[in-house]
Amino acid sequence: MSSFLSQKKASRWVKMIIGCDLDGIICDNLLLLIEELNTYTGEQIKINDVTDYDVTRIYNITREQFIQLMKEREEDICDKSPLMPGADKYLQKLASQGHQIHIITARSPRLGKITIKWLKRHKIPFHQLHMLNSHDKVETCQQLKVDVMVEDNYNNAVQLAEAGIKVILFNAPHNLKWKWTGPRCDNWNDLYKLLTDR
Ligand SMILES: [Mg+2]
Repeated sequence: MSSFLSQKKASRWVKMIIGCDLDGIICDNLLLLIEELNTYTGEQIKINDVTDYDVTRIYNITREQFIQLMKEREEDICDKSPLMPGADKYLQKLASQGHQIHIITARSPRLGKITIKWLKRHKIPFHQLHMLNSHDKVETCQQLKVDVMVEDNYNNAVQLAEAGIKVILFNAPHNLKWKWTGPRCDNWNDLYKLLTDR
């Protein structure tokens, strides 16, 4: 980890282009998602039981059932989800230091209005919001020339790392069991240190 971003950090004046996932990093959507799924299935699954990003496997429901449920409930989840603790404070700090923040999310553009409203409500600074409607973030990260991408989806993280992009994996119950040789963080305090420590 010592050499991670070391080139960038050789000068405190060098500005980074930071790619940042939204759900699980800035927006804490997991609890509300689990509550919706518990109501839908009648299960009583706890957040730490969600050891797989693909919740259809945890709940033993079909992809079609999940897609239908999300059509009905996703807007509400996006609207009501709380902020990840410290995300506002540290993103404001990073932005004020001149770093460029790109929010890169698999959310569909149909959730654009509600997402921008939520980001404004929580005072999240960002240069651009990229709503990809896909978990494949490689091309966007390459086009933006991000110095680092912060991600909680393990499969995304691996795909990005294999494409040569530096990734910090934000710990979540669904990614803890997987082997990851890159840096991990537990919270925004950790993440800020990883991004800025020299
Ligand atoms: Mg995420």
